[in-house]
Amino acid sequence: MADPKGFLKFPLRVLPSRRPVAERVGDWNEVYQDFAEDSLREQAGRCMDCGIPFCHTGCPLGNLIPEWNDLVRTGRWRDAFDRLHATNNFPDFTGRLCPAPCEPACVLGINQPPVTIKQIEYEIVERGFAEGWAQPIPPSVRTGKTVAVVGSGPAGLAAAQQLTRAGHVVTVFERDDRIGGLLRYGIPEFKMEKRIVDRRLEQMAGEGTEFRTGVNVGVDVTADQLRGDFDAVVLAGGATAWRDLPIPGRELDGIHQAMEYLPWANRVQAGDLSEPPITAHGKKVIIIGGGDTGADCLGTVHRQGGTCVHQFEIMPRPPETRDPSTPWPMYPLVMRTSAAHEEGGDRVFSVNTEEFLGRDGRVTGLRAHEVRRRNGAFEKVDGTEFELEADLVLLAMGFVGAERSALLSDLGVEFTARGTVARDEDFATGVPGVYVAGDMGRGQSLIVWAIAEGRAAAAGVDRYLMGETALPFPVTPTAAPIH
Ligand SMILES: Cc1cc2nc3c(=O)[nH]c(=O)nc-3n(C[C@H](O)[C@H](O)[C@H](O)COP(=O)(O)OP(=O)(O)OC[C@H]3O[C@@H](n4cnc5c(N)ncnc54)[C@H](O)[C@@H]3O)c2cc1C
Ligand code: SF4
Repeated sequence: MADPKGFLKFPLRVLPSRRPVAERVGDWNEVYQDFAEDSLREQAGRCMDCGIPFCHTGCPLGNLIPEWNDLVRTGRWRDAFDRLHATNNFPDFTGRLCPAPCEPACVLGINQPPVTIKQIEYEIVERGFAEGWAQPIPPSVRTGKTVAVVGSGPAGLAAAQQLTRAGHVVTVFERDDRIGGLLRYGIPEFKMEKRIVDRRLEQMAGEGTEFRTGVNVGVDVTADQLRGDFDAVVLAGGATAWRDLPIPGRELDGIHQAMEYLPWANRVQAGDLSEPPITAHGKKVIIIGGGDTGADCLGTVHRQGGTCVHQFEIMPRPPETRDPSTPWPMYPLVMRTSAAHEEGGDRVFSVNTEEFLGRDGRVTGLRAHEVRRRNGAFEKVDGTEFELEADLVLLAMGFVGAERSALLSDLGVEFTARGTVARDEDFATGVPGVYVAGDMGRGQSLIVWAIAEGRAAAAGVDRYLMGETALPFPVTPTAAPIH
């Protein structure tokens, strides 16, 4: 039973500090400082365990937030660790990277700052790893059934862990040279150090999940071989087809997609090379796209030593506080300042790029103008054209769906109008025994959704193989069902 007056005793929402900017842009380590246990337990005590915990519905995993808040408040860390893992395979990823849609849904947030749910989650899982509680949990019974998981991002890893623990023989295929998907190549080290992924993989390998890297399924292993060798398949290849900006000058050197740029920085940190082939060092940089991927580019530019950087966003500057159009408990569109924004750079809102400028085949800048929204469309504001110098332009405008790969066409899966792989309410594609989870089925989304979908697809696969399942089914798909 939570302390019903905890939020009155501790009215302030307190979070750990970020390391000083001057220090952190000089390295690639995570930016947050340690948080004292006493303060954390006070913060957990602000949760009143309200009658209807709206935070449960805010969290795509249905995390049992008030339960582990109270376990932390009362110092029962091992129980909190187990309760947290009852619904989330990887709170170590979400505790660092989740935008925490649970927090705007917190009942305390109606008239006070909400509980620091994500920080409590982070501290529970870190405590567990430090204490040695994150041991492999191998299955007690083996079913003899085999499952191939294609793609090793959070969706594939969650599906693999659930299915391995259910007793199936699971092989994860990854075309890259390391396991992790965007957790490995995409998300910068300063947001999540890659040792965090490695220690989870060690746990999974200990449970019996097999990992095969450098295998492009559909090319190195054909769709027919995959279906012949495995009883079921989970497609978790992500939504890697990026959105481009086909305007005059796009062909100039020095204009790159964010995902052509960020993975090189990951590889430098992994020790694969000392200098990335694309670097912001000594350059004037413009990032087109004001979202999280753009912010990851921004933090990377700061650390590589860009001389100046602008981040363009076509949408208007969001309000500082919750807008009436997104009342509690909805996730509000508000102005968010990430660690990378705090480190510098200019954010420019309501701006559209009309042309890249160049000399001798290289980009030297761009021409842009302000826009206003009318009837849902963007309209140029006359007389607002301007030019800005740049010798590196990064496009961070999101993704349009799954790659139309040999694997997907040879399997014969169907696609939705949104470019994602179609699936039914069990996460099954129309091809018997072939399931889909994560961004490949949902479209560009979040890690928490990828984990939730991986868990749900695993339940669908388990039922397909065994006729019934005891695995939890936390979510239903949002992409258009195929029947
Ligand atoms: C730069 C960036 C930063 C982000 N930051 C955040 C964040 O801070 N918080 C957050 O919640 N979300 C973030 N996201 C979104 C989040 O990373 C994704 O929603 C999530 O990783 C999707 O997981 P997934 O498992 O579906 O796919 P992915 O992580 O994309 O993994 C798919 C994997 O499948 C592999 N693959 C594809 N086809 C094949 C094949 N034929 N054979 C073998 N392997 C194959 C790919 O190589 C890849 O490794 C970010 C996204 C980007 C691009
Ligand atoms: S996974 Fe994300 S939404 Fe769920 S409890 Fe953790 S921070 Fe909140």
